[in-house]
Amino acid sequence: MRSIHVVEDEQNVRELLGRYLEHEGYKVYLHASGEGVLEALQVNGADLIVLDIMLPGIDGLELCKRIRAKYETPIIFVSARSEEFDRILGIELGGDDYLVKPFSPRELLARIRAIFRRVDQQQSVAVSGLKPFKDLTIDSAARLVRCGQYTLDFTNKEFELLLYLIDNVGRAFTREQMVTAVWGYAYVGDSRSVDDLIRRIRKKLDGVSTIEIKTVWGYGYRIDG
Ligand code: CA
Repeated sequence: MRSIHVVEDEQNVRELLGRYLEHEGYKVYLHASGEGVLEALQVNGADLIVLDIMLPGIDGLELCKRIRAKYETPIIFVSARSEEFDRILGIELGGDDYLVKPFSPRELLARIRAIFRRVDQQQSVAVSGLKPFKDLTIDSAARLVRCGQYTLDFTNKEFELLLYLIDNVGRAFTREQMVTAVWGYAYVGDSRSVDDLIRRIRKKLDGVSTIEIKTVWGYGYRIDG
């Protein structure tokens, strides 16, 4: 049974989501604040976290940072409409998706299922093991990229985007296609998030690998064979 932690200070929302997700067959842990969440993750394990941004005490973004320091567990951010949620910051901190309140439990469930589908796909890819490409070796099981004696440290999204471009070498993709490939569906169509990921991947490859991500002007990006 997959486990989901919901961190939400609004009691009615928290309990509604708890009942709904339990009914859908998930093991649900509810938290009214960020306090103690890290310990709960350690004790109970977690397959996914639904994380409200505005919380008493530690806010959702800070909590995300702390979670990411230890875990790769997918995180769905939740924020009130009135709060200007910085998507780029959310992605940089390692969020996988976000929803603006009010949303229906069904909508949340759809996002959760999309993430679990992707996790399952990644696991089936992971079984296939090492993939060499030019001077890189991509270890899907460990989610590591090696170049000679170096191990390059990629976040989950950076890893997925690089692997996607390498799997489709010589082919150019639009930002929208890349958003869909990496986030699983249209992530509220913000192309800046792709530019940001590309920038960070380039920085990590720069001076280490000969592999270049080419900008296709007016279109998107490509890696050549
Ligand atoms: Ca809140």
